[in-house]
Amino acid sequence: MKSFDIPEYYRSRIITPLKEFRRKRDKLKRDFSPTLLDFGPVRVLLARHFGFCYGVENAVEIAYKAIAENPGKRIFLLSEMIHNPDVNGDLQSRGVRFLMDTKGRQLIPFSDLNPNDVVIIPAFGTTLETQQQLAALGLDVVKYDTTCPFVEKVWNKAGQIGQKNYSVIVHGKPSHEETRATFSHSKETAPTVVVKDMAQTQRLAKYITHELPVEAFYEEFAGQYSVGFDPTRDLQRIGVVNQTTMLASDTQSIADYLKQVMIQHYDLTGDSVDAHFANTRDTLCYATNDNQDATYALLTSPADFAVVAGGYNSSNTSHIVDLCEAKLPTYFIESAQKIVSDTLILHFDHHTKQEITTENFIPAHRPVTILLTCGASCPDAVVEGILLKLAGFFPDSKSVDDVLETIMQ
Ligand code: SF4
Repeated sequence: MKSFDIPEYYRSRIITPLKEFRRKRDKLKRDFSPTLLDFGPVRVLLARHFGFCYGVENAVEIAYKAIAENPGKRIFLLSEMIHNPDVNGDLQSRGVRFLMDTKGRQLIPFSDLNPNDVVIIPAFGTTLETQQQLAALGLDVVKYDTTCPFVEKVWNKAGQIGQKNYSVIVHGKPSHEETRATFSHSKETAPTVVVKDMAQTQRLAKYITHELPVEAFYEEFAGQYSVGFDPTRDLQRIGVVNQTTMLASDTQSIADYLKQVMIQHYDLTGDSVDAHFANTRDTLCYATNDNQDATYALLTSPADFAVVAGGYNSSNTSHIVDLCEAKLPTYFIESAQKIVSDTLILHFDHHTKQEITTENFIPAHRPVTILLTCGASCPDAVVEGILLKLAGFFPDSKSVDDVLETIMQ
């Protein structure tokens, strides 16, 4: 895979070579088992896959290139570059300003922009409407477009489904930048509706089967359907695409469920299913699949607790947290600073959207076993900080260099 030129301070002298070591020994990515870092009194199991993905590294490279190539110019990011506070904070410290927040609310009016300004499109992509607005102001929306190719793949898939006269059901978080962008692109070729989860999909099914009145659809799915969407007409032939970072099992269940609804409602068998349901594979990206599969593999090892690092608004990270917290105590933290001491950790509950405090999170017995991973937008340097902080709580630990040497000999 292509390598990118990103600032060294996002890399780690521990994590980056470890990942490279595992990658070289398993180029076909068949081995999802974690890497054991055995410090003696504490054992850290590091997931096989985590951290900066292709799309994030690509976006980070382009953003720093934009800064280097445009001294003296005003540089704007359409919204958060990726969902990581370190990366966004570093770009802001270099003078980059955000035009919108992650929900699409305007922070700086587009009318303040002039053709001399530089606008960077984030990895999630953007809506056609925003692209057109910026282009109409004379801004170049192509030069620093960092839209991930795996997001564009979803747009293409939606387009293909639409061209075959299916409506598109997008499984995603309705307010997430990527889903808003996908919705915008999809509706150009097909009637489109967004479902956020299985509960909402089951409600949608009731409009497919005419169990609920059409009028209720417009209220229930307000803001989630394309202009002119007619549930009676537009739910007869459907296909599913999804936000690239959803939980694979959720997306699969939603597609399977909708297929069954169509089969039963239209009494379909064999090839006739295609007449009402586009049989497509999910549009999760490789990084989401790898990171989730590596998390499942990580969770096969008994451990005392898990630490998952990432931005609190990161969709892919929250799904890794979901997988971990179903099995053991899990702490979702932005950085090592959230580990206040060996008895106190500040961590995010993404269900209530609140940071909470847990005391005595490290058990008294020895050795303590910790699972460690992070989302696709989290730099290796952040994971290193967490690893060193945790290891530092155990005075008789082996040194990092000794542990690395044992692994990489
Ligand atoms: S998580 Fe997937 S879709 Fe998102 S930027 Fe990374 S590779 Fe692209």
